[in-house]
Amino acid sequence: MFIEETMVEKLVEAGRIAIGAREHGASLVKPGASAREVCEEVEDWIRRKGGEPAFPCNFSVDEVAAHYTPGVKDDIRLRGDEVVKIDVGVHVEGYIADTAVTVDLSGKYNRLLEAASKALEAVVEIMKPGIRIYDIGKTVENTIKRYGYKPVRNLTGHTIGHYLIHAGTTIPNYADRTTFYKRLRPGTLVAVEPFATNGKGLVKEGKITNIYSLTGKRPRAKLNEAESTALSIIVEKYKTLPFTPRWLIGELGEDKAEAAVRGLYMKGVLHGYPILVESGKGRVSQFEHTFLILKDRVIVTTLKRD
Ligand code: MN
Ligand code: MN
Repeated sequence: MFIEETMVEKLVEAGRIAIGAREHGASLVKPGASAREVCEEVEDWIRRKGGEPAFPCNFSVDEVAAHYTPGVKDDIRLRGDEVVKIDVGVHVEGYIADTAVTVDLSGKYNRLLEAASKALEAVVEIMKPGIRIYDIGKTVENTIKRYGYKPVRNLTGHTIGHYLIHAGTTIPNYADRTTFYKRLRPGTLVAVEPFATNGKGLVKEGKITNIYSLTGKRPRAKLNEAESTALSIIVEKYKTLPFTPRWLIGELGEDKAEAAVRGLYMKGVLHGYPILVESGKGRVSQFEHTFLILKDRVIVTTLKRD
């Protein structure tokens, strides 16, 4: 997406709401907290502030690096010794902010968290119009390695478009030679998200959980009534953005929401996102900001200024 000045205001507003949602979410991560209650509160908080969730609140615990969001009847509660990643997306009229924070309830993983958060801070320092994607990855890798951890090589940042969370260009978390000549030009919106781990530094796909988006394909079989209702809500409200069956409970009820989404997935209408799990069962930390690259400056839309 090429950013025009009129869009800047909405992107900054989405960022402002995302900062609050991220901090509110992190404050709710406590022993005994329910993942579903935390995520529902974060998503409602975003709506109360005038934004919309750009994707379901991700609540990824320990070796789950990303893409877990609680299901309709999920009642997983925190024991009190977990490493929890809260990843939130906000959009204002399709203009997106994407940001994440990690909370360590164990008290044992301070340095693992610091590795990823310092890597992100280092990127904030070097970010400028025209920066090489290679230099971002190298900075992330070097910072994380200095702490004795590994970056997760197959999780990346990404450019963002209008109503589009992944706009096509990836930002690796290591010095990837194939990105040496690629630069982030003015007019680019990009999320950078260092992941650090004490495991293998790779994630593999787990089971499809509760995050879906439209494939744009026609159904392979006739839809039932609940599936048709669900599909028209998804097309109308979420467009190409990821959503979760929890968001359809209001219209369909818990059981039908889950069944309809499953049906649409089976019929090829929806893409399902698998959870991403660290291959060596390592703990994973993540921090993320969204950067708006303009002609002569960069706005980190999700960075709190005090
Ligand atoms: Mn994110
Ligand atoms: Mn992201």
